[in-house]
Amino acid sequence: MDSLNFKTDMAFAYGEPSPLGPGIVRIVAKNPGPFTFKGTNTYLVGSTSLAVIDPGPDDAGHRDAILKAAGSRPVTHIISTHAHRDHVDGIAALKAETGAVTAAFPRDPAAGRIALRDSPSGSYFVDYDFTPDIAIKGGNRIVGADWALTAIHTPGHAPDHLCLALDGRNVVFSGDHVMAWNTTVVAPPEGRMADYVSSLEILLDREDEVFLPGHGGRLQDPQRTVKAYLLHRRWREKSVLDALAGGATTIRRIVPEVYQGLAPQMLPAATLSVQAHVEYLIEKGLVASDLPLTLDRALSTL
Ligand SMILES: [Zn+2]
Repeated sequence: MDSLNFKTDMAFAYGEPSPLGPGIVRIVAKNPGPFTFKGTNTYLVGSTSLAVIDPGPDDAGHRDAILKAAGSRPVTHIISTHAHRDHVDGIAALKAETGAVTAAFPRDPAAGRIALRDSPSGSYFVDYDFTPDIAIKGGNRIVGADWALTAIHTPGHAPDHLCLALDGRNVVFSGDHVMAWNTTVVAPPEGRMADYVSSLEILLDREDEVFLPGHGGRLQDPQRTVKAYLLHRRWREKSVLDALAGGATTIRRIVPEVYQGLAPQMLPAATLSVQAHVEYLIEKGLVASDLPLTLDRALSTL
């Protein structure tokens, strides 16, 4: 059973601003890939002065497109949903051009550089050196001339992940937390499945009408997608437990059982995803393993 219907159609042209509603424009950066779909979505919010959400990669062409779309309107804020490089690398140059203040959820320096290693996509994917001018946490509001955004802390894909709700419009910028084109990567140690599931439940309790994700097209009826994501995770969790019960007793052996017909280049991401599920099952007391967990550590069901 796979209850998810991915929405992979998306009307856009690189460098061209697409109006998505009053005071909302999207520009897609030209960094397509297996984890970024067509590229990172940058959003311009506001009418007389602007917030830029997720400037995307450090790409002069993309930056020019943002500045051209802004025109004579000042960019007062640059806000990032999370400090993954495909979202924040373009911040420094855009800040230098505009003088905008940057705002994001502050990463805990004490937590260290836990994820400093190759990502499934093959490059360091977290910018640990990014420090926002304004630290925002769940419930904080950022107010511009004719817009206001309320932050919703949604860890899981990344510990610092924020969704941003546009006040008075029932629109949420959902970052990489909920996207229509694919499921979200939850890769330990950067990602935590227990957090991810709780963060989905937070959105389920809201009455938003549209999600505008960090990659891919807009989601109408987003509650349905959130429910489908939760169901999908539960189904994945059950398939991990079934594989374990069937004798695949290590993460490395569970992966091909759970992901049948997997393309070889997706193996690292699939392995991390199974690891995230196993960690969650251990936390819930359904699976036993001595810590630290490794790919070849023997697991058992409880
Ligand atoms: Zn990300």
